[in-house]
Amino acid sequence: MKKYIVAIDSGTTSVRCIIFDKDARIAALAQHEFRQIFPKAGWVEHDADEIWRLQKLCVDEAMANCRATAAEIAAVGITNQRETCVVWDRKTGKPICNAIVWQCRRTARFCNSLKEKGLSSIIREKTGLVPDAYFSGPKVAWILDNVEGARERAEAGELCFGTIDSWLIWNLTGGRVHATDVSNASRTMLFNINTMAWDRELCDIIGVPEKMLPKVMPSSAIYGECRPSLFGAPIPIGGAAGDQQAALFGQCCFEKGSVKNTYGTGCFMLMNTGEAPIASESGLVSTVAWQLEGQRPAYALEGSVFVAGAAIQWLRDEMKLISSAPESETVAKSVPDTCGCYFVPAFTGIGAPYWNQDARGIITGLTRGAGRAHIVRAALESMAYQSIDVLSAMEKDLGESICALRVDGGASANDFLMQFQADASGVKVVRPASVESTARGAAFLAGLASGFWKDTAEISLVADKDGFKEFKPSVTKEKREELLAGWHKAVKKALND
Ligand code: ADP
Repeated sequence: MKKYIVAIDSGTTSVRCIIFDKDARIAALAQHEFRQIFPKAGWVEHDADEIWRLQKLCVDEAMANCRATAAEIAAVGITNQRETCVVWDRKTGKPICNAIVWQCRRTARFCNSLKEKGLSSIIREKTGLVPDAYFSGPKVAWILDNVEGARERAEAGELCFGTIDSWLIWNLTGGRVHATDVSNASRTMLFNINTMAWDRELCDIIGVPEKMLPKVMPSSAIYGECRPSLFGAPIPIGGAAGDQQAALFGQCCFEKGSVKNTYGTGCFMLMNTGEAPIASESGLVSTVAWQLEGQRPAYALEGSVFVAGAAIQWLRDEMKLISSAPESETVAKSVPDTCGCYFVPAFTGIGAPYWNQDARGIITGLTRGAGRAHIVRAALESMAYQSIDVLSAMEKDLGESICALRVDGGASANDFLMQFQADASGVKVVRPASVESTARGAAFLAGLASGFWKDTAEISLVADKDGFKEFKPSVTKEKREELLAGWHKAVKKALND
């Protein structure tokens, strides 16, 4: 009798294993942080062997906590930090160097050269992405050009490339399966999201031999079986998806036009755009959301806010205005408004839809009456305003307005922020009882492939069992317009044009 799905959640700073029961409730959880390696300013690396070792440890611990037996596990699902890439030896399974992390900027110059060569539009048309150091392809090329002998070995078929999902699948199956899912593939800048295949022309432009690429699979499908020694029986791997796409699935955003926003250090907003990619006119990227076995892929528009919860950390650690992130809620609620202040936390420039790297943080509208609580409130409001700018860009690209925003992530626990998000956007905010959307999404994908859950309709019912909290817009349209006009005036000042 199958009772559980094991979700492997391989994040940027920690790895986790969460075991879900049939009601998608957490039966056990184990987590370990791992080393962040900063060899130079702007460079970020991870030790892929350490990730695998700790991930395995999490699985063992979660299985022990759950007192689950292998016979009770229906399948394993994987979700992972996206874009981070590993290159390993096909024979020994050993990485040839550290993994290059999505945050690493070492390929920025190469990506700028792609833009200067006029390749942005072809990259955008084929991959939905803008050339940026964020994405994996150029990171792989960097490894091939900088690790001695790597390019020759890759050409000879001796090396494998994979994002973290592939690396985990390879290790889980004891080196029998070299595969990735469509959502992870769509973040490499090598994958054509229209034809859903690796693109030879892009591989040539970026300099990655096709021989080293993983097989691309649907996000929900049987990838293979874990080697028996891991669980004590050969459990199937039933799904994989990048973390943001998994969260979109975990939030049951199955319909075209449904949107989720994750409030963490930054904000990640994704909208399901249905069965065709939308070419953004508003500075968003178009990406594959997921593919279920035997079905057409679902696509998404994605926009991110660089500084969201990080502004709260800044108030806590640098300005010392609050002693903890949750305290921001009581402080913000202690005043009726921001006393005319707006805080644009453009510490590292402003992303979608402005895309200005030179913008810098600014607090506008200061008067003698402004105090600590107003600034704290303005910082929380800035998370909502920045999200509204991304949401509006999505509405523009979709040509329709959005009626609900599903939320998760650490800062979504803040009721003031959620109510303000609803008020300032005029859109209902829906927060599920469990904000573990990412791991849940991986579990749902694997649960579908293995028959643990029947279809997305059943999953929606299961996901709603514990209920959710809704925040409904409670201010007039005039008030909303006034708030947003003030915000956009402040953004203009921060843009520094
Ligand atoms: P990440 O996955 O990016 O590390 P989390 O989802 O764990 O982020 O959320 C942590 C971020 O959310 C931190 O930046 C923190 O400042 C912010 N945060 C956490 N709780 C709250 C809260 N109650 N109110 C406002 N911000 C919060």
